Amino acid sequence: MPKDVRSSKRRDELEELNMLVSAKEMLEKAVAGHYAVGQFNINNLEWTKAILTAAEETKSPVILGVSEGAGKYMTGFKTVQDMVAAMVEEMGITVPVATHLDHGSYDGCKKCIEAGFTSIMFDGSKYPIEENVAKTKELIEICKEKGMSLEAEVGAIGGEEDGVVGQGECADPNECKMIADLGVDMLAAGIGNIHGKYPENWAGLSFETLDAIQKLTGDMPLVLHGGTGIPDDMIKKAIDLGVAKINVNTECQLVFADATREYIEAGKDREGKGYDPRKLLKPGYEAIIAKVKEKMELFGSVGKA
Ligand SMILES: [Zn+2]
Repeated sequence: MPKDVRSSKRRDELEELNMLVSAKEMLEKAVAGHYAVGQFNINNLEWTKAILTAAEETKSPVILGVSEGAGKYMTGFKTVQDMVAAMVEEMGITVPVATHLDHGSYDGCKKCIEAGFTSIMFDGSKYPIEENVAKTKELIEICKEKGMSLEAEVGAIGGEEDGVVGQGECADPNECKMIADLGVDMLAAGIGNIHGKYPENWAGLSFETLDAIQKLTGDMPLVLHGGTGIPDDMIKKAIDLGVAKINVNTECQLVFADATREYIEAGKDREGKGYDPRKLLKPGYEAIIAKVKEKMELFGSVGKA
């Protein structure tokens, strides 16, 4: 059997078991139930295993985010998709799991569709609006056909990644309405949030913008990027105002690095077989589980699988 047929066959089987799914239904439920589903980005096997463990133990639906860079790092999107599918199966995961391309380019989206991902984000913010709309429409058609979900971004979300530091941008609510009406499944709009760590003089989220967007887009699940460092009360208020998906990436990286540093600085890698990668990476792995569980609790997704 050719490899891509095999991958999609496995995906179909898992979908039948309601294990590997698009993000559409889990987010519709989140909007109705006034909670948010976490998107946690993965970088390797340990990351994936940690996040799936946290989701299963808390009975939370979960979205595994994969950036184009992380996809390349793991040798390609097929590796990622097949690894997640196999892990869901071997770990006996029973909660809904989506594999989602984070900030995808047009070509990246095509590759993830081919690899069997269940969800994609098309970040067309670099294109003029007409071209962004045309490409978004084309991808929506493909996703509907394949039972995948699609996230679109309106405006640009700033942050360390593109060298912007300071107050994040706010999206135009009318532009949000226009993109929502194309038939996307979830919408990322800038409301002052940024990627990476927040600067000390950050002005906070613009609930005025979020409220205006929600009023125009109705039940459309809204996505909050840059979840690291937003105070808990702001997260809760954003969920009240229609945010149904929150992206967390940097925070898991920080706790992983801290736990690993602590292990090495304590000289534990030099005690017995402490150099064994399965031991060396364990504190970081456990720190990710704890952090993801903490976020799931905050987002209200615990017990919602
Ligand atoms: Zn983002």
